This record gives sequence, C-alpha cells and structure tokens, in this order.
Amino acid sequence: MNFNNVRFERSFGTSAQLTPSTAPEVAFSGRSNVGKSSLLNKLFNRKGLAKVSQTPGKTATINFFDGDGVTFVDLPGYGYAKVSKSEKARWSELIEGYFNQDRSFALVVALVDIRHEASELDENMIRFLREADLPFVVALTKADKLSRQQQMKQKAALKRQLALGDDASMVVTSSAKGDGMEELRKIIRDAVA
Ligand code: GDP
Repeated sequence: MNFNNVRFERSFGTSAQLTPSTAPEVAFSGRSNVGKSSLLNKLFNRKGLAKVSQTPGKTATINFFDGDGVTFVDLPGYGYAKVSKSEKARWSELIEGYFNQDRSFALVVALVDIRHEASELDENMIRFLREADLPFVVALTKADKLSRQQQMKQKAALKRQLALGDDASMVVTSSAKGDGMEELRKIIRDAVA
C-alpha cells in the first residue's frame, strides 16, 4: 500500500449509514484534541486531509479514507467536556455501532497523549479493545513536548496504567517532528498484509 495516495471517501453521522467493509480497516481512536487529525495528515503526507481544529468538540462523524486496498477509519474524538449530552450519545452510538458490526478489523491505533496519565475514557477504550480481542497499537502523541528522558518515563508509566503486556506495541509519535511515523507505517503494513 502507498501512504501517499490516501483519499477521503465519506463521512457517516450514524452507524446505520455505514457501508460494509470492502477492505481491511485500520481505525484511529482517541480523545478529542489528542492530535488524531495531525497524526493522520503526517502519516499520509497530506496537510488538509483530516481537519486539524483549534476548537475541539466538533460534530461527531466517522470518516472513511481509501488507501489502495486498505480503508482508514477516523473515529470521532471522545471526552470533550463541553459537548451536549445528545452529542455524547451520538459519539457512543457511532463508535459502539462501528465496533459491533461484522467488519474487517485489521488494526486499531489508539491515541493517547504522552504528557498525562491516561483518562478514564482512554482506559475504557483500551480495555474494550483488549476484551474484544481486537488487534491494536497505542500511539503516544505530542512527544516533542517532552524530553527523551521524560518520554521513556511516561511510556513506562502509561504501559503500567493501561495494563499493557511487554509484547503490546506502543509507539512514541510526534506529528510536529515526524517521530514514530515510519514505525507506525510498518505496524500498519504488517497488520493489513
Ligand atoms: P484531534 O482533535 O485529535 O484531531 O487533534 P488535532 O490534530 O486537531 O490537534 C489538536 C491540537 O494539538 C492542535 O493545536 C495541534 O496543533 C496540536 N498537536 C497535534 N499533534 C501535535 C504534535 O505532535 N506536537 C505538538 N506540539 N502539537 C500537536
């Protein structure tokens, strides 16, 4: 597959609208503002492919991207405090609806901010992925905001907090600097092979 030839396909506002899988799917999850759009744009070398927003909590949709035999799925960012109850309900409907379907799940990239403890919603997400036996990798974001030493310390602390075994993969990334992108591309290539 070619990471430089990924195209936006479609946005879905409810899980009932989702069209069946036509290729292995690589989905990206994370709390709102974790840096998901920035990471997608860096991974695919395309500045405006996913919208980087200054105001978090934009309308929840699932966005599909087509990448030559792989479908990339941008799940709605969770946990933004200021959205309404109905918007939160829509988020749950979308994400649970997506994972409850009989789809061709190849990999979930679960994004977590490297600077902080994982939130309760991050913990829930990763527990769900583990219990559902879905293949996943944790991508720690915004590593450029920490020194190398702090990065290693946070990586170990988050591994412990999220109860990830030694064989679980965790990639330290920075969309600002490009760290971890090749490693993540390799994990994705292996998952869809
Ligand atoms: P999303 O809500 O998860 O899609 O997050 P965005 O990609 O829109 O990013 C949220 C904010 O974090 C923006 O202000 C980005 O510029 C910033 N950001 C994202 N990734 C990085 C990174 O790797 N390093 C730094 N320093 N800032 C980042």
